[in-house]
Amino acid sequence: MNNPVANINEVYQGNRWEGAKAASRKMAARLYAAGLTKRAARMWTCGDYLAIRKSDDGELIADAPQLCRDRLCPMCAWRLSRRRFAEMMAVFNALAPEIIEHDYSATMLTLTIRNMKLPDLRRSIDGMATAWHNLIRREFFRDVIGWARSLEITYNPQTQTYHPHMHIILIWAKYDNTSATAEVIRDGWKAACNLDYSPVIDIRKVYSRDGDGESKHALIKSALEAFKYAVKPDCSEKIPQSDLFEFAGAIKGVRFVSYGKAIKRARTALGFKNEESAEDESDMKNELPDETVIALLAWSGTRYAPAVLTDGKWRFNPAELSTAAANVSHETKTEGENEQ
Ligand SMILES: [Zn+2]
Repeated sequence: MNNPVANINEVYQGNRWEGAKAASRKMAARLYAAGLTKRAARMWTCGDYLAIRKSDDGELIADAPQLCRDRLCPMCAWRLSRRRFAEMMAVFNALAPEIIEHDYSATMLTLTIRNMKLPDLRRSIDGMATAWHNLIRREFFRDVIGWARSLEITYNPQTQTYHPHMHIILIWAKYDNTSATAEVIRDGWKAACNLDYSPVIDIRKVYSRDGDGESKHALIKSALEAFKYAVKPDCSEKIPQSDLFEFAGAIKGVRFVSYGKAIKRARTALGFKNEESAEDESDMKNELPDETVIALLAWSGTRYAPAVLTDGKWRFNPAELSTAAANVSHETKTEGENEQ
């Protein structure tokens, strides 16, 4: 690469990275104001540097060597959503021959309960997790040969309520595409959650043998779009400042995704890491650029400023970096802290 800097704009999706980084700084400031100072400090430096590398097949790719892995971090939520999406696509590709051979169906199931106020959120999330475990022991679930479950929490500013719900991808050996199936699941979910009302559920096919390849692909992709976020960045932005401390505590240690049967096996075969344990690795790796890095970008407070490799050293434009230098603190990591 003669002039890596010239190609950077095409490679690193500048707007997305910069938007995510700016949002992440904003959230860090909000966490700080909420008294979550250590988390705020980690998030502040999250994605401070971007590394442009050349992949094995010669493509240029951008990644952030230092991510805080905080669930409320817009930068990390975006990166994780991309990873979830890519991993699920890989799982589907790996299972495709089996799915085609046996004529399996895939559906997207959404399980909800009514919105609630913040003090009830954690109890409800835990209740939903238990209910899910009860649901998969029911008879209809014998026809499910693989599943992936993702918990998403949204916030409604009008009613000031929270809405935890589950997006579940199910692969069926035998799928009865009638309202009867939805009824069985709704009743099962109602009983498992111990509800005195009929919950809203939605189930729709995202794959079957009918239809052309293009539309099949689009359906699965749209299902995975819904699957990929725990707390969407545009949602965490709306959570009122007065709720933030308690909300952060309510989602602490929650298992947001889980996988079962054929999907779990495929993930293992593909070597995908357990996402939750990956998220717990909240330490910031201070990776030095290795030989695959061909350009570095550093956050300057408003944008990523490129550095170039000259005489064996990475050099930034000092003027552009002065803002960043004033803001960045790398003394952010404390293990075993007691805050949320
Ligand atoms: Zn982060």
